[in-house]
Amino acid sequence: MMSAPCTIESKEQIQAIAPIIKECGVRILRGGAFKPRTSPYSFQGMGEEGLKVLRDAADRNGLLVVSEIMNQTQIPMFLEYVDLLQVGARNMQNFDLLKELSKVRKPVLLKRGPASTIEEWLLSAEYLMTGGNHNVILCERGIRTFENYTRNTLDISAIPVVKKLSHLPIMADPSHGTGRRDKVSPMARAAVAAGADGLLIEVHHAPETALCDGAQSLYPDQFRELMAQLKIIAPAVERWIV
Ligand code: PEP
Ligand code: MN
Repeated sequence: MMSAPCTIESKEQIQAIAPIIKECGVRILRGGAFKPRTSPYSFQGMGEEGLKVLRDAADRNGLLVVSEIMNQTQIPMFLEYVDLLQVGARNMQNFDLLKELSKVRKPVLLKRGPASTIEEWLLSAEYLMTGGNHNVILCERGIRTFENYTRNTLDISAIPVVKKLSHLPIMADPSHGTGRRDKVSPMARAAVAAGADGLLIEVHHAPETALCDGAQSLYPDQFRELMAQLKIIAPAVERWIV
């Protein structure tokens, strides 16, 4: 279970949210320090300072850290602060980045490209493994379809398909998959029931003020309630939230 705000906004913000998600049973603290924003005028992230803040909050709460890396020149800096590296949807086919990450010995979380087939996604995972890095985790985060009620269309069926085709663990990200706070919990429950190995969920203490993805961020109380539900659903499919 990975969770946190979309974007690191300040030290205070991360220090406030980290104990809350820890208490809910989350293992990995996530936050973007370098953000791939659609608009160049949107907040681009705190940069290295954000990674420091994330590491510090995680250490104080016994959590691991994952954050999104944008290009291969950032690898040495990321290795100083993170336990897992996230390759975002927009970089799923950034082959130079994937090849360099294949030489790293930390797990890589590979998000599915918004317009990628499952086969393309699995081939990108193979790029990551070419240099011997076999610790690859896939993350379904919604794809672009004709439907525009939700931000993306979370492809729940990708979970059993990947389970059949690959040995790699697969997570789901219902936050980007729906873009709407009230749709996140139902899709998180569905993903666990479909066999997901993990979830990535955005949580914010005051989503209405969030600098990024506030509309899809859960309030801490909603997240607590969701975690309690998931602890009931997971055993029905012989999975446990640890
Ligand atoms: C994110 O995880 O905050 C993010 C930018 O996601 P994606 O790459 O799936 O759009
Ligand atoms: Mn986000």
